[in-house]
Amino acid sequence: ATKTFNFKLVLLGESAVGKSSLVVRFVKDQFDDYRESTIGAAFFTQVVPVDDQTTVKFEIWDTAGQERYKSLAPMYYRNAQCAVVVFDITQEASFEKAKTWVKELQRQADPDIVIALVGNKNDLTSRRAVPAEEAQAYADEAGLLFQETSAKTGANVGDLFKAIAKKMPLD
Ligand code: GDP
Ligand code: MG
Repeated sequence: ATKTFNFKLVLLGESAVGKSSLVVRFVKDQFDDYRESTIGAAFFTQVVPVDDQTTVKFEIWDTAGQERYKSLAPMYYRNAQCAVVVFDITQEASFEKAKTWVKELQRQADPDIVIALVGNKNDLTSRRAVPAEEAQAYADEAGLLFQETSAKTGANVGDLFKAIAKKMPLD
């Protein structure tokens, strides 16, 4: 028999870094170049098999990145057990914004929250503005999981959620 563990997961990060695209890739294995921007927040679920006895079910809140929705974010991260903070590897400013989200989570969210930092759009290597080593060093220092992904190609998207699932308290 397999045991299923449910966890609330919130996606945070600047607008247009690919939060919605990552969720759609993870949940539906689809990508589209003209995704409409998220209004408020959207809800998805997806399961991740961890081993033959254990399954994790993520209840995913995909938030809107725009400033005007910023005041709503605490509502989504307050009772989340995991957070995925996304930046775009071609936009230095989105990495700075991601660090701001991490600090806010570390101050205001559940002290046991599992945080993953994600550098998305790593298919756009020729336009890279944030070195992977720099993001990895920051993640190590701040105690975060780190993964570079591409919602477009699907690279590392499954691995990201699997790594988070494995870090959750499964007992
Ligand atoms: P959100 O505002 O953070 O939810 O970002 P979206 O998911 O709406 O994506 C913003 C734009 O970036 C859209 O045009 C997507 O098609 C594009 N995009 C998202 N992920 C990737 C990716 O991994 N690679 C590339 N090349 N484009 C992406
Ligand atoms: Mg969105």
